[in-house]
Amino acid sequence: MNYKRYFPPSYLEEQLKNFNSNVKRTVLGTSVNGLPVYQLQIGNGDQNILMWSQMHGNETTTTIALLDFISWVLKPQQSEFLKFFSFFIIPQLNPDGSKLYTRENFNGVDLNRDAIHLSQPESIILRNAYEKILPQYAINLHGQRTIYGSGPEGPPATISFLSPSADSKKSITSSRTKAMIAIASIRNELEKQLSGAISRYDDQFNPNCVGDYFSKCGTPTILFEAGHYMKDYFRVKVRLFVLEAYKILFKHLMLKSNEGSVESYLSIPQNTSNYVDLIVSNITIKEDKNLYKNQQLAIQYIEKLKNQKIIFLPSLVTYGKNLKLKAHNFLDFTDVKKDNYIIFKKGAIINTDPFNKLFSLNTFI
Ligand SMILES: [Zn+2]
Repeated sequence: MNYKRYFPPSYLEEQLKNFNSNVKRTVLGTSVNGLPVYQLQIGNGDQNILMWSQMHGNETTTTIALLDFISWVLKPQQSEFLKFFSFFIIPQLNPDGSKLYTRENFNGVDLNRDAIHLSQPESIILRNAYEKILPQYAINLHGQRTIYGSGPEGPPATISFLSPSADSKKSITSSRTKAMIAIASIRNELEKQLSGAISRYDDQFNPNCVGDYFSKCGTPTILFEAGHYMKDYFRVKVRLFVLEAYKILFKHLMLKSNEGSVESYLSIPQNTSNYVDLIVSNITIKEDKNLYKNQQLAIQYIEKLKNQKIIFLPSLVTYGKNLKLKAHNFLDFTDVKKDNYIIFKKGAIINTDPFNKLFSLNTFI
């Protein structure tokens, strides 16, 4: 299907029609606003894999790649996977947020901070599935903003991983070791296509996060974060990298191929928040009645749902003579009319001429 970041429950329903009876579909429960939360079960193996995506409704790339993965694994050539694994896939844990394109659920709660309190029906659905399935591996699927680099000097973080901590000491437990080896195995292989663009998340322990909770319970847990690649704001290419990562992961778990190690996991660059979407140079800024000439201005696109489409609105981040930030896009204002200045207000969306047109994402992709 033509993927453009927005992936609401109605699109999921449409895609599910493509799957045959080898995909057993059940409704695990309903969301706050009454939408079904589906589970797809595939395979008859004794290795149980629990995967869930869109627990944050606006993080859709891992979901679409999951559907790609299901189509791939159902092919006759892949039948060995279905003898080895039983996949339990919750493609859209937060259908209300997926419809509204919000991170949070319909009550405004971040489901990935609700692992202990279980205050939301979606959190209970995931916990019940986990306790019933008792997975050998838990795969926690997310998407991240364009602000992350792979280490302080590296390219944008196209895919990031984490073996979440199981305790505040960040102990490398046996379950974390398994997750680290699996992540390192994915990285060994995917690095050939994404040189330097694979990173790992900070492993500060937070038991309210679902991954940390499952890790604490002794389940090897792997967090995926689909990120940014070149001009791929709609994540059409990233979708393919994520699919590739799923395939490598399950080949590794089945065949122990391309074995990574804890050391190679720890050598993966850490995610660093050092990118913005656009840096404009040689621009005049007005703030508090003062004019600042020849500045660099950092702009970040804010994603908004409008008429069932995602639009990217330029917002003001910071400015200065020599910003210590990297950017995905650049614009030089030297030749733009000199009496133009922009009024700076942190976080404000630029919606007036001529700046909104000049800074528009369409100019750069
Ligand atoms: Zn997320």
